[in-house]
Amino acid sequence: MGLRRAAVIGGGVGGLAAAVGLRRHGWEVTVFERSAALPEVGTGLGIWPDAMEALDRLGVGGAARRVGRRQPDGALRKPDGTLIAALGANSVHLLTRPALLGVLADALPAGVVRFGTPAGLAECDEYDLVVGADGIHSAVRGELFDAEIRTSGATGWRGTVDFPVATGGETWGKGVKFGLTPQADGRTNWYAMGDDLSHFADWHDPIPRILASASDVLRHELLHLAPLRRYVSGTVALIGDAAHAMTPDLGQGACQAIIDGTVLAECLTGDVEAGLREYDRVRRPVTQRLAARSLQLNRLARVRRLTRARDACLRLALTLALRRRARTEPWSADLEPDELAG
Ligand SMILES: Cc1cc2nc3c(=O)[nH]c(=O)nc-3n(C[C@H](O)[C@H](O)[C@H](O)COP(=O)(O)OP(=O)(O)OC[C@H]3O[C@@H](n4cnc5c(N)ncnc54)[C@H](O)[C@@H]3O)c2cc1C
Repeated sequence: MGLRRAAVIGGGVGGLAAAVGLRRHGWEVTVFERSAALPEVGTGLGIWPDAMEALDRLGVGGAARRVGRRQPDGALRKPDGTLIAALGANSVHLLTRPALLGVLADALPAGVVRFGTPAGLAECDEYDLVVGADGIHSAVRGELFDAEIRTSGATGWRGTVDFPVATGGETWGKGVKFGLTPQADGRTNWYAMGDDLSHFADWHDPIPRILASASDVLRHELLHLAPLRRYVSGTVALIGDAAHAMTPDLGQGACQAIIDGTVLAECLTGDVEAGLREYDRVRRPVTQRLAARSLQLNRLARVRRLTRARDACLRLALTLALRRRARTEPWSADLEPDELAG
C-alpha cells in the first residue's frame, strides 16, 4: 500500500492524539489548526487510566506522567465542610491542557501542524482520510449531519489560583457545586457550577480564599451534543467533542478524545472505509453511554430539594464504588458512572 495521506481538522487533544497515532501506523498527516499557536495557559484535566493507557499506546504516556501528578485523596463534601464520602486516592493523573497538548505536539515533526489555518471538507478533498476533530461546534460535522447542540441549563466557571490545597474533590450544595484539582506546580485548578459565584462565599475553606484570589475566571454555558447516529461518513471520521461533546461532570471529554484518536488510528491499518466502520462500532456506544451518564450526574448535582436524601445516596454509591474498586483495580472509567447514576 502506498503512503496514505490524512487531514486532521482541529489540533486540540483529540486531533493531536489522532495525528500521533496515524503517523505511528504509517500515515502522512497534516493537522489544520485555526489558532495561531499552542495555548500557553489553560486549566487542568484529569486523565483516567484508560486514557493514560491510550497515551502509552501513542508512545507519550511517560512524558505525560512526567509533566503531571497523580490525583491525591479527594472528598465529596457539603457546603459546611462535612464529609459526604471519601473519594479515595485514585489513579487519575492531573495535568494542564497546555501540558497535554505540548506532550502530543512534541511527538510530531515540525510542520505537521499548520497553525493559523482554519479548514473544512472543501480544503481536504485530496486526502485519503479526513478526521473532524474541530470541537463541539464542529464545521466538519455540520457539513455531514444534522446535529443538535443542547444546553444543560447550567453555567460553568473555571480558573487557577497560585497556591496549593491539601485535598481535591467536590462540594455539593443545593443545585450548585464547587470542585478543586491540585496541579503539579503547586497551583490549584478550581471549577464551579451555578448561576453566580456569590453562592460559594460562605462555603468551607479554602473555597472563599480561592474565589477571593481568582482572576481570569472563565465562564461558559455547559453544552452537550445530542447523540449522533454515526461518527463516520465515507472517508471522514468525527472524534472527540465533534462526535460526542458531553457535560464536564465525569471529567471524561478529553480522555475520550484521546482514546478516539488512538483507536481510530489503530483501526486504519487496512481499507479506510472498513476501518472507519470498525471505529464507529467500537467507540460510539461507549462514548454515548458516558455522555448520558455525565448528563445524569449533572442533573443530580443540580437538585435543589431533598439534598439530604441525595447526599445519603451518593455516600452509599461512593462507598460501594470504593469497595468494588479495591477488588478490581485498575478502576475503569465505566465503573464509577454506573455507581453514581444508580
Ligand atoms: C469545565 C470543563 C472541565 C473539563 N474537565 C475535563 C477533565 O477533567 N477531564 C477531561 O477528560 N475532560 C474535561 N473537559 C472536556 C474537555 O475539555 C473536552 O472534551 C476536550 O477538550 C475535547 O477535545 P477535542 O480535541 O475534541 O476538542 P477541542 O479541545 O475543542 O479542540 C478543537 C480544536 O479544533 C480547532 N478548530 C475548530 N474549528 C476549526 C477549523 N474549522 N479549522 C481548524 N481548526 C479548528 C480549535 O481551535 C481547537 O484547537 C472539561 C470541559 C469543561 C468545559
